[in-house]
Order: sequence, then structure tokens, then C-alpha cells
Amino acid sequence: MARRITILGSTGSIGESTLDLIRRAAPGEFQIAALTANTNSEALAAQAIEFSAEFVAIADAKAGADLRARLAGTSVNIGVGEEALIEAGQRPAEFTMAAIIGAAGLKPTLAAVDQGNHVGLANKECLVCAGDLFMQRVAKSGAKLLPVDSEHNAIFQVLETEQPKGVRRLILTASGGPFLDPDRDLAAVTLADALKHPTWTMGSKITIDSATLMNKGLELIEASYLFERPSSEIDVVIHPQSIIHSMVEYIDGSVLAQLGSPDMRTPIAYALGWPKRMETPVERLDLTKLSGLTFFEPNTERFPALRLARDALMAGGQGPNVLNAANEVAVAEFLQNRIAFTDISDVVARTLAVMAKNADFAARSDTVEGIVNMDMRTRVTAHSLIHTL
Ligand code: NDP
Repeated sequence: MARRITILGSTGSIGESTLDLIRRAAPGEFQIAALTANTNSEALAAQAIEFSAEFVAIADAKAGADLRARLAGTSVNIGVGEEALIEAGQRPAEFTMAAIIGAAGLKPTLAAVDQGNHVGLANKECLVCAGDLFMQRVAKSGAKLLPVDSEHNAIFQVLETEQPKGVRRLILTASGGPFLDPDRDLAAVTLADALKHPTWTMGSKITIDSATLMNKGLELIEASYLFERPSSEIDVVIHPQSIIHSMVEYIDGSVLAQLGSPDMRTPIAYALGWPKRMETPVERLDLTKLSGLTFFEPNTERFPALRLARDALMAGGQGPNVLNAANEVAVAEFLQNRIAFTDISDVVARTLAVMAKNADFAARSDTVEGIVNMDMRTRVTAHSLIHTL
């Protein structure tokens, strides 16, 4: 019987890679229950037709009208707006890939979590903005959370193979992004420079996050919730070749790692196929052809985002939510060429400092409304700080 699959954010980089694996699978192995997008009606309609999707949802109203026109005469059901994205998460599916970018993915992903089935989690911002609430809902529904971020997938694989007992620390590897050269003037970095990632091909927001090292900061918070470890037991090491995807150190000094070519289809296949492994077309790792594997400490003076994320995690409460919302605003402004590269971390730091003065900053929020409210107030603050730059 075909496995029912939903992909939230199917028109993005992770969504497309997931569909690529489904396309290569045996006919009848998978059935697409629902696909979603924000504005890209053209790609969503093409996917819906190719994969005979039962339901498609698009956030943007104007794109929704275009989507309806493109799918006229087909049997695909169409929904438009935020409620439709949530409906996509609620529709029965045995596996949901959560691959929307940013906090916008929270409600649809929670809807999928509430079904209690398998959820592949790429949308790390869900855990950053609502980690406690998200993990409570996972525990309540019994959903199986399968990390898709390559680092967390690596740690998940290690912990599944080896007892999680006796773990001393998790070691997240980071490519370090395109600006590792310490002589590179970060103030002069252009948008085009920042969009050129040396090892991974990804959507634009995560590519900028990788360049500022905020991506590693978000991943640190994600790892803390996923693997229930405090910040002090999670280290970050720069590894420019992106071959070792992360490691687990045990109390006896053993370090276990997962290696592979830098291609997201490996962790996606792991989550999609779990508990079985799937064939992928990923380039096989040939260790004899590697010129070397290098590792060094991140420079948090040059890349303050990682330090800001660690501080936000340690502050607890709504700290990570504020960090995430401020970063989403700053990255969106940088992608519009309205602020400089170095302004991104600056805006996040300044927004955190302002928001920390609010009485509800330090308190944990256990409701979606509380999280969304803090997220919206943070965005207003970040925008007003940007106007003063
Ligand atoms: P992309 O930007 O490529 O795609 C994002 C997807 O989300 C698209 O389908 C997009 O629709 C949709 N989307 C964007 N904004 C909204 C919104 N406001 N409401 C609803 N849908 C929206 O992102 P990636 O695939 O690169 O990343 C997805 C997630 O996976 C992120 O959380 C990222 O951090 C994580 N991740 C990505 C990796 C990668 O290799 N790309 C690696 C590890 C993690 P549309 O096309 O219409 O804009």
C-alpha cells in the first residue's frame, strides 16, 4: 500500500529534494496527500499535476487565484491562506516533511505533529521559536520526530545506533560559510557574495544564516530541544569540507560520527524511509579523493550570531523566539539589499537588548498565541531599529 506523504514547503530546496527522492522510488510506493507553497503557484501546480496530489495549499491570496486557474479541470483540491496551510498539516499522512522556512511553518507543522505520525523536521525555526511547546505536543501525540538538518540527522543516527547513555557532549560541525578567510572585510560583503555557499545548495534565507553563522546558532538551540542537552554540552566546530556532519562524544573518550557527501538527499532519505534506509543517487564518499579534513574553533568576534544564539538559549523563556524573529527580519532586509551584511547580527543584538526589558521575555510561553504575539512585537521592534541605522 502507498505511504501517504505531505510536504509543507514543497517548492523550496528541501521540498524539491524530497520530491526528487519520491520521483525515483518504485511506482505506487508513495501517494502525495498535500503540498504547500507561499507564492510560487507555477511550481506548486506543476508538482500537484506530476505527483497527483490530493490537496495543495498556498499562503498568498493573489498566487491562490493563479493556482486555481492553473489547476482548473483537475481533481486537485485547493486551499488558500494560513488556514489552508494548517489544513495541509492536518490531512491524514503517514509522513510529513516540515520544510517551510521560518516561524511561518510553526502552525502547519504543529498540525502535523498532532496527528502523531512521522514528521521530518527541516524547519528548525519551529523548535527555536517554540521549543518547549513543540516538544510537549510531540510527547502528547506520540509523533516520531525525524531530524532532517544534516547535523541533527547525524547525531540522531549515532544515538539510534549507540546507547544515548554516557554521552558527554554533542559536537555540531559547521561549514563556516563563504567568509572564513580572516582577512575578508565583512563590511564590504555583497548579497551575491553571501549567497555563494561553498559546500551546500540551499534556499536563500538559510544560505545567509550560514554566512553569518546564525544557522549554527539556530541549530544549537534546535539540538538542545531535540536531544535534551543544555548549551554547555553542545559544542560547535568549523569543518569547511562538510564531510563529517556531526559527532557525539561519550564519557570514555569515544567520538562517534556520521559522514557523507554534502547532499541533503541523504538525511531526507533517512527521515522519509525511517526505520528502513532508502537508495539515493547521492555521490558516494571516496575518502581517498579527499584532500584533507580540517577543524577549528568558530570566531565569535567576527561572527557574533553564534554567541547571541547561545546567550538566547541560556536566557531561556522567549529569548530564542526573539532571536529568531529579529533574525528573520534582518535577513529579509539584507536579501532586499536594504541593510549591510554586518548589520544582520547588529540588528539581532539590539533587538534582543530592547525586548529583554519586557516583563514576559524571561517567561516560557506554552501557547501558540503567546509565541506569535512575542514574534510580532519583536518584528516591529527590529523594523524600527533598522530605520535608525
Ligand atoms: P526555501 O526558501 O528553499 O523554501 C521554503 C519553502 O517554504 C518554499 O516552499 C516556500 O514557498 C515556503 N514558504 C516561504 N515562506 C512561507 C510563508 N510565509 N508561508 C508559507 N510557506 C512559506 O527553504 P529551504 O528549503 O532552504 O529551507 C526550508 C527549511 O529547511 C528551513 O527551515 C531551513 O532552515 C531548513 N533546512 C534547509 C536546508 C537546505 O539544504 N535547504 C538544510 C537544513 C535545513 P515559495 O516557494 O512559494 O516561496
